[in-house]
Amino acid sequence: MSDLDDRIENVVIIGSGPAGWTAAIYAARASLNPLVYEGVPKQSPTLMLPGGQLMLTTEVENYPGFPEGVTGPEMMEQFKKQAERFGTRIETDDITVCDFTERPFTLQSARGEQVKAHAVIVATGATANWLGLENEMRLAQSGGGVSACAVCDGALPIFRDQVLAVVGGGDTAMEEASYLAKFGSKVLIIHRREELRASKAMQKRVLDNPKIEVVWNSVVIDVLGESKVSGVRLKNVKTGEESTLECKGLFVAIGHTPASGFLKPGQLERDEKGYIKLVEPQRSLTSVEGVFAAGDVADAVYRQAVTAAGMGCRAAIDAERWLAEQGLA
Ligand SMILES: Cc1cc2nc3c(=O)[nH]c(=O)nc-3n(C[C@H](O)[C@H](O)[C@H](O)COP(=O)(O)OP(=O)(O)OC[C@H]3O[C@@H](n4cnc5c(N)ncnc54)[C@H](O)[C@@H]3O)c2cc1C
Repeated sequence: MSDLDDRIENVVIIGSGPAGWTAAIYAARASLNPLVYEGVPKQSPTLMLPGGQLMLTTEVENYPGFPEGVTGPEMMEQFKKQAERFGTRIETDDITVCDFTERPFTLQSARGEQVKAHAVIVATGATANWLGLENEMRLAQSGGGVSACAVCDGALPIFRDQVLAVVGGGDTAMEEASYLAKFGSKVLIIHRREELRASKAMQKRVLDNPKIEVVWNSVVIDVLGESKVSGVRLKNVKTGEESTLECKGLFVAIGHTPASGFLKPGQLERDEKGYIKLVEPQRSLTSVEGVFAAGDVADAVYRQAVTAAGMGCRAAIDAERWLAEQGLA
């Protein structure tokens, strides 16, 4: 193990999505000289890249300031450049161990480097849970009609007036289906059981919608189509029978996993799904003073680039004020 140097960092930001880069821009402009750990590419259990979830998408049409839309990777490159412009330092490495029991905090990277910091902003995001089918990720990354976010992609022209499929049976799947019913000609919810897990109120909203139908006891075993989705292959889990369902969009709504697994149990309070708990409404404060959280790792509700960026801004301002109160920076 080698120390980066003997310096104690003012603030280390872990993560390089919209939340991490926005925190870096604000912290750098506040003369905090932030250090960002942007992560390394990972293939498993799901694809995760420096730059975050938007590296996996083509068009982003709902981020303000881009009237013509922008690709996810292009947008994240701009975020990064803006953070670098104000002197943000970047390590292409993962943080694997954190010790928040003593101040200054100690972080250890995958390469074995150790860094000490007065304040830490955790902005490690989340990953959408995918089905794990060969064609699924290819068509998701190429804009071919597979998505894990109806609010992000539902309004795109390729989905207008088309038959759309949603996989899942929980509240998120119901929300996605209701939202998609505004655009598609028909929405088919594919669910592996014969009853939905979603709350009764959500179920009612969906089942009352004439555009939505549920395909019960079924799982998707293949996504069909070369450059665009043309349908999905289904298997009935009761009868074993296989069938093809024609559709022009597939929305996978089987949950998200927050990237908080590198935090040992008890280090920072998290909820039962692993999302970091924020201890004050409208703030970025966590259960450990001096540790702040931003973006999807602390947000199971909105999960949007613009909300993640807003949370990154809050975290940097909270960190700056906390450091000033402590006389540390
Ligand atoms: C396919 C897809 C399309 C989407 N389209 C849109 C859209 O059009 N509009 C929109 O607003 N939102 C969209 N979203 C949602 C949006 O991408 C997320 O809400 C947003 O990226 C969350 O930002 P974040 O900064 O919290 O985290 P993320 O973007 O998840 O980034 C976190 C990054 O931190 C790094 N990291 C993780 N763990 C560590 C570690 N231990 N050490 C160091 N680094 C680490 C990784 O590089 C990781 O990728 C989409 C999501 C997906 C999956």
